[in-house]
Amino acid sequence: VRKGKTPEEVVKKYLQKVKSPPEEDCTICMEPLGGPSGYKGPGVGPVSKAESVGRLAQCGHQYHFQCLVAMYNNGNKDGSLQCPTCKTIYGVKTGNQPAGKMEYHVIPHSLPGHPDCKTIRIIYNIPPGIQGPEHPNPGKPFTARGFPRHCYLPDSEKGRKVLRLLLVAWDRRLIFSVGTSSTTGESDTVIWNEVHHKTEFGSNLTGHGFPDPGHLDNVLEELRAQGITEEDAVV
Ligand code: NAD
Ligand code: ZN
Ligand code: ZN
Repeated sequence: VRKGKTPEEVVKKYLQKVKSPPEEDCTICMEPLGGPSGYKGPGVGPVSKAESVGRLAQCGHQYHFQCLVAMYNNGNKDGSLQCPTCKTIYGVKTGNQPAGKMEYHVIPHSLPGHPDCKTIRIIYNIPPGIQGPEHPNPGKPFTARGFPRHCYLPDSEKGRKVLRLLLVAWDRRLIFSVGTSSTTGESDTVIWNEVHHKTEFGSNLTGHGFPDPGHLDNVLEELRAQGITEEDAVV
């Protein structure tokens, strides 16, 4: 979705000028930063020498300007940019999760490893549909297997915090994406994105169950990698 800015304008917003490029290769195109971008694709216009290399303002990593624009154009063009080296996020990262529903409620049972609290059950439901321009094969159908998918969190303080952040992730379309399932090998299907969920309640036959003492901290770390932190959870 265009937010009124061209890809060049979006990239420029996050860059600082570099007077003399270091004698290093650009890790996007593997060509020297002192020379032209190795990226030759559609829509690549000439840029002046002065703006051919830029430094990302927060993390300091440097790339050819045109390489960053090409990377941005390959994504979902949501106005955000992620440094390919250190994953620092500029702006608000969103994903390409298809339309659907996220619901949750508390059930009066305890999870293995969390004997002192009840359980939050999240129910995700995404119907099959047609891929949009943000998906790998626009115009082609995608399947959606195993929905509704039920997921579990302890109803503890930390579990409720994870839930609040997952609600933000859902709004930013980061819980699922469309692609090839690593479990089934099926392509053009709805798959989990990079935030792990527990889909097994009383046992752990799949490895996606309880007990798992590190689970909540892992999820918080995965959410952070998507740019979602506690400050985002202020409802
Ligand atoms: P995937 O296999 O591409 O894996 C993506 C991520 O999800 C990985 O990190 C993986 O560890 C995790 N993951 C895989 N299986 C999981 C599970 N059961 N619970 C929680 N996390 C899981 O992603 P995918 O294709 O979305 O996940 C496969 C899962 O989807 C299956 O295990 C099943 O639950 C469901 N599914 C069901 C059917 C069906 O017909 N009932 C068909 C396909 C997939
Ligand atoms: Zn480059
Ligand atoms: Zn960086």
